[in-house]
Amino acid sequence: MTDNNPSPASPAARTPLTLLGTGAMGTALARAWLAAGHPVTVWNRTAARAEALAADGATVAASAAEAVAANRLVIVCLLDDASVGEALQDAGLSGRDVVNLTTGTPGEGRSRAAWAQARGARFLDAGIMAVPPMIGHRESGAYVFYSGSADLFEEHRATLAVPADVRYVGADPGFAALHDVALLSGMYGMFAGISHAFALIRREDIAPGDFAPLLEGWLNAMAGAVHETADKLTSGDYTKNVVSNLAMQVQAGQRTLLRTADEQGVSRELLLPFLDLMKRRLDAGHGDEDTTGVIDLLAVPPATA
Ligand code: NDP
Repeated sequence: MTDNNPSPASPAARTPLTLLGTGAMGTALARAWLAAGHPVTVWNRTAARAEALAADGATVAASAAEAVAANRLVIVCLLDDASVGEALQDAGLSGRDVVNLTTGTPGEGRSRAAWAQARGARFLDAGIMAVPPMIGHRESGAYVFYSGSADLFEEHRATLAVPADVRYVGADPGFAALHDVALLSGMYGMFAGISHAFALIRREDIAPGDFAPLLEGWLNAMAGAVHETADKLTSGDYTKNVVSNLAMQVQAGQRTLLRTADEQGVSRELLLPFLDLMKRRLDAGHGDEDTTGVIDLLAVPPATA
């Protein structure tokens, strides 16, 4: 990772840019660049959504090809990778700097990079860690992962930093999507835990609003586990500095968790997948570890992936 989060472009260096896609996210991005004084050319499949930005000072192009021809820096924020291929199929990409803010998989980022490079463009893939209302507000914590052409990133990083902070995570164009999806996957695990916890208390005389700060505090206290896991993965020793070992967690803890779900009339379905993996690791003779070994169990051999 290099040199992240510079100050936004100085007024003298407002790079003109093209933005393809003015959905909820694209519109927020366009408004941030326009507010910072960048000349912005927009295109959207449904023209009315792009035309709404004319009042903010955007130039509206009649086609994606026309929009791409207008500026060297081309930002793409469409629904998915297929829509990117569709929108750009007739555009002349030679000499263009394409920054793809469309959410996709690492594989899509890599193949789209090769596709763009074969058409003479430099390419940067990205993953947005924000929702539209956070865009353009530096205090919101919004940021974007970028990966791919380091030259492109270096040249345009001040412009890219206008709508949200930037994190460059490497030359592999798949890495931005990989970081994005890895963080989202962690978030959904947390949402699963939150859902189960509220389900447990729901039928009781416990106000959700009273319970929420307790759950928040506990999740924050446990969040440090990410560093302990990283240390164990780095050293390869999953038994180092174990506070609650797997044997205890499975033999005593799991039973209590499952029986409490039953007593409260709550389905076990969110708990079971992870608890089953913990038990498999214990049964394989790793009772002195914590849950880090579950990561090994999740690896699918490439031939069957
Ligand atoms: P919207 O649904 O609001 O907009 C989707 C955009 O994609 C529209 O401009 C739509 O055009 C266009 N589009 C869809 N299919 C095609 C196609 N086949 N050809 C051309 N254009 C097409 O989504 P968002 O703006 O919210 O999301 C855009 C990207 O940003 C997505 O990849 C999303 O994952 C990502 N993102 C969004 C976040 C959010 O909270 N909204 C958060 C982080 C990332 P039309 O108007 O004509 O339908």
